[in-house]
This record gives sequence, structure tokens and C-alpha cells, in this order.
Amino acid sequence: MSTQFQWEADGELPRSLHKKAAEAGILGLNYPDEYGGHSEGFDIFHSLTQTEEMAAAGAGGLGASLMTHGIGLPPILAMGSEEMKRRIAPEVLAGDKIISLAITEPSGGSDVAQLKTKAVLTGNKYIVNGSKMFITSGMRADYMTVAVRTGGAGMGGISLMLIETDRPGVSRTRLDKMGWRCSDTAAVHFDNVEVPPENLIGPENGGFAGIMRNFNSERLGMAHGCCAMARVALAEAVEWATNRETFGKRLAQHQSIRIKLADCQRQINTTQAWVDLCAWQAKQGSGQPADYAMLKVQATRMLEHVAREAAQVLGGASYITGSKVERIYREVRVNAIGGGSEEIMLDLAGRQLGYS
Ligand SMILES: Cc1cc2nc3c(=O)[nH]c(=O)nc-3n(C[C@H](O)[C@H](O)[C@H](O)COP(=O)(O)OP(=O)(O)OC[C@H]3O[C@@H](n4cnc5c(N)ncnc54)[C@H](O)[C@@H]3O)c2cc1C
Repeated sequence: MSTQFQWEADGELPRSLHKKAAEAGILGLNYPDEYGGHSEGFDIFHSLTQTEEMAAAGAGGLGASLMTHGIGLPPILAMGSEEMKRRIAPEVLAGDKIISLAITEPSGGSDVAQLKTKAVLTGNKYIVNGSKMFITSGMRADYMTVAVRTGGAGMGGISLMLIETDRPGVSRTRLDKMGWRCSDTAAVHFDNVEVPPENLIGPENGGFAGIMRNFNSERLGMAHGCCAMARVALAEAVEWATNRETFGKRLAQHQSIRIKLADCQRQINTTQAWVDLCAWQAKQGSGQPADYAMLKVQATRMLEHVAREAAQVLGGASYITGSKVERIYREVRVNAIGGGSEEIMLDLAGRQLGYS
């Protein structure tokens, strides 16, 4: 069994891969040197190149699970205490520890402001009760950046809190999935978990801004990953169409198939151009949330189309486990839903553009 298929059969990546990725400079790319990263001479385009290379393997979930610190660590680096940054970041960037981000709950992920997991300050500690859902790398995580309700209703009552998963009262259940098979996904339960106040990330009831600041880069990365996966699917379809013969000629010699392939290329190119523009704007500090939200929808719909058309070109072969197209086809939905689903993205953009 190849390594990738073994990871998918196991439902998770080996910890040794995190170590190897750290040694290769992958985990620490674009993180501050003082906390174990390397940022000198790197910018957002290097990060996107890294995303592209990982997506090019055609193994959905590899990037999501190996790089979960990309969503779990930034709130700590942006808002955590100096002690917390120095304690957590170096060992995560060295591949020794795994960190997840836990926002979504069983009662819903889109309406973040309504989350229910409670942290009540009792004496000199918080007592945390509640559940989180669909948490990437959640089965293996040593640390979680968790959104909890410390105050009243709505976004103003939410805090971010670091929770070590070996604390008594933390338990998790593995979730099986349509795709992202090498990425472990968990339902996480907090049952009277005691957490010291030093584990607050940023001010009490000031967590919502920390959640929001993560989203733009996550959406840009996902959009770029969709372009990379679409290129992989198209390349496999082109190769197939160049070799497969039907009705006395190669598939690619049928005009309708050529048109299909060129149309996929057109959609990939236009989406990639928008990704590059948004990356450039992010680098200048001028990116708008509405752009990243709409870009994510554009990229996932493009991937949905390309994966469908590539599968159609491969015919029955696309349905048999082993082709990259078969795997990429299964990764479409998680991209369209995770990190902000289509309806929520377009509504956010619509509101920001003043369409109400
Ligand atoms: C594999 C995987 C990994 C994930 N990893 C993480 C993770 O690491 N950490 C984390 O916190 N979360 C994670 N998520 C959760 C993900 O972010 C949520 O699934 C997503 O935000 C949607 O939330 P939901 O599934 O609860 O859907 P819901 O919020 O219940 O929405 C269901 C559907 O209704 C639509 N909808 C909701 N409200 C409206 C409205 N007002 N108008 C129109 N349509 C609406 C939504 O767009 C969606 O299509 C992951 C999800 C998956 C599948």
C-alpha cells in the first residue's frame, strides 16, 4: 500500500510526518523567527506555493491536517500572552505538538455568534462545559484554540481559550468522512474541564475579533488549494483524453471533449488570477473580507465544475479508487462548506457591498 493510501486507511497522518515537515521548513514558513518559525525573505506568495505543492499530491486532507496550526496558532501569536507564545509556538512549529482550532458546535457552525460552550470563572479557574464538532486534527491535537462563551449573548460574550487536551474532562469521538480521509476529524466534549485564566487568548469577551482575523487567510489558502487541485484533475483528464480512443479516434480529437477541457482551463485561469490579485492585496494590507469570501465561492464552484468534467472524461475509471480525479471529486464539498459555506460567504459579501 502506498504511503498516502496507508494514511487514508489509518484516518490520520503519522506524527513523524509533522516532524519531517518541520525539518523541511514547511511548518514554520512565514512564522516569526523568535517563536521557532522562519520569516526572513518570505511572504504570502511563498505560503501559497507551499499550499499548491501540497494540493498537487491530489490527496485531500493532507494540507488541512498537516497544517492545522495555520488556523490554530495565529490567534495565539496575535493575541496570546508572551508566556503562551513562547510555550506553545516553538513546539508546534517543530512538529512536536499538534494544535487545532475549535469553533464549530453540534448546534451549528455558520452562526458563530450563537455558540454555546460555556466557560464560567469559578474561584481561580474557568470551568468549561460543551461540545465542538468537525474539528480538524481533533483526535491527535495536544492543544486546542477554543471559542467559549464567557459573557452574555452574541459576539460580545465570546472568548478564545487555549485548552490542553490532556486535561481531565476532555474527550473526543472520531468522525468518518466522505473525503479528507487522511485528516482526523473529531467531535470534542468538555465536561467540567478546569482551565486557568492564564489560558485566555486575548481579553475576556474579546475573542470574536480573533476568530474573524483568521478567516481571510484561511479562505485565500483554500481558494488557492482549489486551483491547484483543479489543475491536477484537468491534467489527468487531458492525459486520459490524449490516449483513450473511442469511435476510431482519440477522445481529445472529439470537438466536444476539447471544448470541455479548454473550458476547464479557462475557469482555472480566471480563478487563479483572482487568487493572485487577492494575495497581492493581502500583502499590501488592502484586502477586503468581501473579496476573500466571494473568491472562496468562485474557487469551490470552479473546482466542483472541473472535478465533474474531469470525471466525465475519465468515464468509469474516475469511479474506481486510485485515480486522483476520484479523490478530488470527493474533496469538493468540504471546500464548499468548511471555512465558511457558500451562502454565508455570499451573504457576508452582499452585506459588505451594501446590498441590503
Ligand atoms: C471536514 C471538515 C473539517 C472541519 N474543520 C473544522 C475545524 O477544524 N474547526 C472548526 O471550528 N470547524 C470546522 N469545520 C466546520 C465548518 O466550518 C462548518 O461545517 C461550517 O462552518 C458550516 O457549519 P455547519 O456545518 O454547522 O452548517 P450550518 O451552520 O448548520 O448550516 C447548514 C447549511 O445551511 C446554510 N445556511 C446556514 N445559515 C443560513 C442562512 N442564514 N441563509 C442561508 N443559508 C444558510 C449553510 O450555508 C449550510 O449550507 C469543519 C467541517 C468539515 C466538514
